[in-house]
Amino acid sequence: MRSLDLPALAARLPRQPTARFAPSPTGYLHLGHVANAVCVWGITRALGGRVLLRLEDHDRGRCRPAYESALLEDLEWLGLVPDLGAPAEFRAGRSQFRQSDGDSVHAEYLRRLAETAEVFACDCSRKDVALDGGDAPDIETPYGGRCRGRGLAPGPGRGMRLRIDPGEERFHDAWLGDQSQEPARQCGDLLLLDRLGNWTYQFAVVVDDLRQGVDLVIRGEDLLGSTGRQIRLGRLLGRTAPPVFVHHPLIRKASGDKLSKSAGDTGVRELRAAGARARTVLGRAAHAIGLLPEPRDMGVHDLAELFERSSLIERVP
Ligand code: GLU
Repeated sequence: MRSLDLPALAARLPRQPTARFAPSPTGYLHLGHVANAVCVWGITRALGGRVLLRLEDHDRGRCRPAYESALLEDLEWLGLVPDLGAPAEFRAGRSQFRQSDGDSVHAEYLRRLAETAEVFACDCSRKDVALDGGDAPDIETPYGGRCRGRGLAPGPGRGMRLRIDPGEERFHDAWLGDQSQEPARQCGDLLLLDRLGNWTYQFAVVVDDLRQGVDLVIRGEDLLGSTGRQIRLGRLLGRTAPPVFVHHPLIRKASGDKLSKSAGDTGVRELRAAGARARTVLGRAAHAIGLLPEPRDMGVHDLAELFERSSLIERVP
């Protein structure tokens, strides 16, 4: 049975760990985000740590200022107050916790990485990379290495990749136990900057976790597969110890599919409009990932206790 051993987790962290809640403003907040926030605030508060709010708007084509405003407002309505990256700070203008404001910092990290690791320009399209994988559309296709060694000059219409050598990355996930991943087989040479000039999620998240001192990453199980490559990239960027990872269960729809941001029935805006109270939404999210046997109203200050009483967590299927 999967469970979270809070004292064991605390033993691997500094006295006041820093965690982050890192939504992408590509849509409105839904119950899946709330479930993640329940885990981020609950576990971090139980450990006496700090929560940082980071807006991951690295993909400029998909993010909208309107989604950012809505997200900040919904978080405030839920009562989820970060210790760093306050909504007022984002509203006031540029912030070190908004990825699109960190362009020059990300460029500097790339420049430094290229001094010690092999970074190369790549003009492959997504389609080129997908073709390398043959007929397995559901499985991630590792980059086939077409541009490695071509010596293309970086520039418009060209992305940047990091050479990934074979080798395992092992880590202990505080919820899921021991893991082993092989980035070279999963993704191959890692895309850092895409052909449109956007920093990729993988690059931006690792740089930001490093520069912002994040040592505790609490996120949904759908991102488990990214962890090995993030640990590798972090090490190549000079990170001495990777963050501690906690991957929690996702909310599934009755059909078994993962919730998406378009899921109208679970949008925080829709729930608000229908007259739901914030405490009800938090309790419903906690129940939906197995932290409560039955939904019940709960405030932000009650979230830590979900993780302090591990008997409840052991009911997660
Ligand atoms: N921004 C990512 C998302 O909204 C989360 C990134 C992470 O937790 O590593 O899915």
